[in-house]
Amino acid sequence: MTLAVEESRIAEVVGSLSGKLLINGEWVDSASGQTFESLNPATEEVLASVARGAAEDVDRAVRAARAAFADDAVWRRMPHGQRGRIMHTLGDLILDHLEEFALLESLDNGKPFTVAKIADVPLAADLFHYMSGWATKIEGNTIPMSASDQDAYLGFTLREPVGVCGQIIPWNFPLLMAAWKIAPVLAAGCTTVLKPAEQTPLSALLLGELAMQAGLPPGVLNIVTGYGEAGAALAAHPDVDKVAFTGSTEVGKEIVKAAAGNLKKVTLELGGKSPNVVYADADLDKAIAGSANAIFFNQGECCVAGSRLYVEESVYDQVVEGVAEQARSIKLGNGLDPATTMGPLVSAEQFERVSGYLSSGKDDGAHIIGGDRVGDRGYFIAPAILTGTREDMKAVREEIFGPVVAAAPFSADSDILPTANNSPYGLGAGVFTRDISKAIRTAKRLRAGTVWVNTWNVFDAALPFGGYKESGWGREMGHAVFNNYLETKTVITDLS
Ligand code: NAD
Repeated sequence: MTLAVEESRIAEVVGSLSGKLLINGEWVDSASGQTFESLNPATEEVLASVARGAAEDVDRAVRAARAAFADDAVWRRMPHGQRGRIMHTLGDLILDHLEEFALLESLDNGKPFTVAKIADVPLAADLFHYMSGWATKIEGNTIPMSASDQDAYLGFTLREPVGVCGQIIPWNFPLLMAAWKIAPVLAAGCTTVLKPAEQTPLSALLLGELAMQAGLPPGVLNIVTGYGEAGAALAAHPDVDKVAFTGSTEVGKEIVKAAAGNLKKVTLELGGKSPNVVYADADLDKAIAGSANAIFFNQGECCVAGSRLYVEESVYDQVVEGVAEQARSIKLGNGLDPATTMGPLVSAEQFERVSGYLSSGKDDGAHIIGGDRVGDRGYFIAPAILTGTREDMKAVREEIFGPVVAAAPFSADSDILPTANNSPYGLGAGVFTRDISKAIRTAKRLRAGTVWVNTWNVFDAALPFGGYKESGWGREMGHAVFNNYLETKTVITDLS
C-alpha cells in the first residue's frame, strides 16, 4: 500500500502536538500527571500519548475561562469586529493546515484522508468563517409596550453572552464537532472548556495551537483531553453557566442530571435512527446512491445515518440490490491509502458494538448482506444490509452507529410515515420521490430536525441542525445556535 502521506511526515505532524492540556493559554500536564494512549484504529498501533485530564484540571480550566470572561478582561472589552477577525483568521489557519488536519483525523478516527480533506476540514474552516460574521451582528430589539402609553417607557432587549461554557464532543467528526461548538461560543463572546473524545483527541490539540496563533486571548478557549470523568466534572461544575454535549443519548441524560446542581443551561445533540423513505416514483439512480451515502458515509458513524430504509414494494428489490452493489464497490482499508473509500470503525468497543447488532439481527431472523470482519488487524467491518427485518428487532430500533442499514418494503396503498416516525429519535430523515407535493407533504410529517429531499448528508454552517424527541435539545449552526449562547436582557426605562 502506498500511503497518501509519507511516514516521515506523519511522524512530524503527530510529533508536533504537545499532548498536553490547554489551560489559560498554556500547554500543561494534567494535575495527576497521568496520560492515555490514542490508537490508530486501522493498525491498532499507538499514535500518541495525551494528558488525561480529570476533575482538578477541569476546575483549573473553568477558573481560567471565568477569569477570561470577567468584565474587565481583554475578551470582554474587545471590539466585536476584532473578535470576528480572530475567528476569521482561525478559519484561514485551518485551511492553511488542511493536510495536517486531514492526516490527524484519518489516523485518529480511521476515516479516509481524502474524505477528511474535502469534507471535515473545509467544513470546519467554513464554520469559523461563517460564524465570524455573526460577531458583529448580535442585536437586541426595541419593543413597543402593549399595556402602557408609548411615551411612558422605552423597552428594549440586549443579547449578552451566557458566560462560561463546557463543551463535550464525540469521536466521529473530531475537528468538525469542535468547530460546531467553539465557533458560536466565540462569536457570542463566551469563553469555553472543550472536552474532546478520548478516542480522537489529536486534531483538537492542533486547533488549540492555531487558536492562540490567531490571537485568541488566554483562557477564552481551554482544552481538557481525557475520558468521561472529565466530561462529567465539566457537566457538574458549579461555575459553568452552560453545557453543550454531542454524543450518546445515554450520556446526554447523565449530563442533564449533572447540570441540575446549578441549573446550568443545557443543549444536547444525541443519537438517531433516521428513516429514509423511497417512493416508487423516485429517480432510482439518485435514490440508490443517496440511500447508500445516507448509511455508509463516514463508516456509518454518523448521528444522522439513514439506518432505516423503507422502500415502496414495486421497486424494493431493485433499490436493495442497488444499495448492495454500492456496498460491494466500497473499498475498505487504511484511511491513508488513496484508494480507500471506507475506513475502520473508531475503536475495539465500537467494533464489538456493531458486531453485536449484526449478530442480534441474525438471531432475530434477518438476512444479512455483507457485514463480515475484514482482515485480522484494525476494526474493519464490511458495510451491511439487513433484509427480512421486523420493526421490533433490536437492530431496527436501536442506534448502531456503523455501516448497517435495515431495509423493509411498504405497499403503495399504505401510509409508511407512522412507521418511519415510530422511534424515540428524531434527528434526521429523508425522502426520495419525483413528486414535489409528495416530497413536501412527507417532509412536513417526518418528525425530525433535518429532512433531506432527494439527497442526504448535506450540511451548511448557515442551516440549523438538531433533534426532535430523544435526539436532543436546541439547534447548532445557523443563527439559531445563538439561542444557546446568548441571554436576553430586557431594559425598561421610565421616560417621564
Ligand atoms: P459517549 O456519549 O459515551 O461519549 C461522547 C463524549 O462524552 C466523549 O467525549 C466522552 O468522553 C464524554 N462522556 C462520556 N461519559 C460522560 C459523562 N458521564 N459525562 C460527561 N461526558 C461524558 O459516546 P461513545 O461511547 O463514544 O459512543 C457510544 C454511542 O454514542 C455510539 O455508538 C453512538 O450511538 C453514540 N454517538 C453519537 C454521536 C452523535 O453525534 N450524536 C457521536 C458519537 C457517538
